[in-house]
Amino acid sequence: MGRGDIFFAGLAKTALREKIRERLKAYAIDEVFEDELISDLIAQKHYYCSINALRPTHFRKRFRPGSGVNGYDFEGLFLTSHWRKVSWTQCLDPKTREDIIETALRDAVQSIVAARKTRFPVCEKCGQTPSTEIDHVSPEFAEIARYAMDTMTQEDLDEAISNFDWWKEEPFALSKNCPAMLYTFEAHKTAQLQAVCKECHLSNAKERRAARTRK
Ligand SMILES: [Zn+2]
Repeated sequence: MGRGDIFFAGLAKTALREKIRERLKAYAIDEVFEDELISDLIAQKHYYCSINALRPTHFRKRFRPGSGVNGYDFEGLFLTSHWRKVSWTQCLDPKTREDIIETALRDAVQSIVAARKTRFPVCEKCGQTPSTEIDHVSPEFAEIARYAMDTMTQEDLDEAISNFDWWKEEPFALSKNCPAMLYTFEAHKTAQLQAVCKECHLSNAKERRAARTRK
């Protein structure tokens, strides 16, 4: 899809975003309102709602502490009695199922990866700056995630998403024993990690890109 293409309800993304923002200005915090356009958008484009046939009927803006004058949480009313935070802006740039699963896999190995940073508080590459992030030197994380997802069929992945307890308001997670998770944990036993500063992380990635194009 190109920029400016019609995305939803006869509107391109930018126009749709503006239109919704403009409409939302009319409502006060905690005022309950209906909006067919946003209901439809969420029902059709939200990663979880679209798979599970959920369509919020009402909305409200909720005060979010520390978010400034214009900040608020946006909530939808589902199944007549469940209020739940739901992002309409995310529906404009729907995450693919692969993005969602990759993030869940990343979250799952967060502690393994963080342990490297504790062991190497100074950047392993330049030896100068504190290490702030972890580079998957080899294989790259995206590659691990790709192979991990290959262990599951399309139906498995759909099922993983629809079985997820979205109502708990926790980030999407996969079951610890699903093949993709097992693969990811296994891969991290031998993956080459490096605790690096931001600059070295970028330069590592750049070097790898250059090496790939030379091949
Ligand atoms: Zn460095």
